[in-house]
Amino acid sequence: MIDQWGRTIDYLRISVTDRCNLRCKYCMPDKDISFMQKKELLTKDEICRIAKLASDIGIKKVRITGGEPLIRKDTTDIIKDIKSLKNIKEVCLTTNGIFLNSYLDKLIDSGIDAINVSLDTLKEDKYRDITGGGDIMPVLNSINKCIEKGIKVKLNAVIIKDFNDKEILDFIKFAEEKNIEFRFIEMMPLGAGKKFETITVDEIKKLIEENRKLIPYKSSPKNNGPAVYYKTEEGKGTIGFISPISHTFCGNCNRIRLTADGFLKQCLHFKKGEDLKKLMRQGITDEELTNVIKECCYSKPEQHAFQSENQDSEKRFMYQIGG
Ligand code: SAM
Ligand code: SF4
Repeated sequence: MIDQWGRTIDYLRISVTDRCNLRCKYCMPDKDISFMQKKELLTKDEICRIAKLASDIGIKKVRITGGEPLIRKDTTDIIKDIKSLKNIKEVCLTTNGIFLNSYLDKLIDSGIDAINVSLDTLKEDKYRDITGGGDIMPVLNSINKCIEKGIKVKLNAVIIKDFNDKEILDFIKFAEEKNIEFRFIEMMPLGAGKKFETITVDEIKKLIEENRKLIPYKSSPKNNGPAVYYKTEEGKGTIGFISPISHTFCGNCNRIRLTADGFLKQCLHFKKGEDLKKLMRQGITDEELTNVIKECCYSKPEQHAFQSENQDSEKRFMYQIGG
């Protein structure tokens, strides 16, 4: 699918639930959290129907996210069904990693291609603090198990001023020790994230380069998402930088997002999109639904405008979108 700005749209992020076992302070409100009722969530069949139609018109990669996707009991079945679609080349998962260990065999069986684990600190007490009570140990164990079993695993940390910016060199060491990819992400001013100050990717790089040499590794936004990658001189592990705010990568945006209640979002920042659940439950045909998806992709906005909030800005929090 090509949108009105000439971009190829081939990546669909699917949130399967807004519920989560953690309460990350930048993702969820600190009080009055409301979750979708079960009947509001898309069923497995509804999710797979959308994925099938989207794959017929050009979606090649799907990421399963949430809330915490491993909270939902049929997530691995959803992955398996989507992975079996003939045009789908890659199905990935984003998780906080707490339950990951116990789902690894099922995930391997489902054909999962890669797993992103969110890890904003390596310190037990800070992890408990930022996640609203989470235990880091099962996350670290899950990461080790993924590596042991040969699953492609990437770690993501949102960098927050005065919270984890002093740990950046430790994250790099961790990536080197485990020989895996660690990505630093700027905080987006969305939902609870507005209350936190990020540090820019340029500042993070400067901080690293005062101590370590970074060697450009690969940088292919078109095919490999918005990260820019580096190696350290040791050559082990990979460091990625994602700068949605300081260097927007909207010009290469290739994605659309489906919320757990069936809303197809055109852009993370804007609330516009299509309520596919409503249309499906009213009996829309596959042909009509395909056209709705196509039109929604075609009319994606040119770029986000996080810096200038207006009536079109997204009011949902990140746990309700999927990141
Ligand atoms: N629960 C899973 C997890 O934490 O990986 C998947 C859903 S979570 C919403 C997906 C990603 O969004 C996480 O890596 C989280 O750190 C990130 N995220 C949440 N709020 C954010 C914000 N305001 N800016 C940038 N990333 C954010
Ligand atoms: Fe849950 Fe992920 Fe949001 Fe943390 S970032 S509260 S783990 S959905």
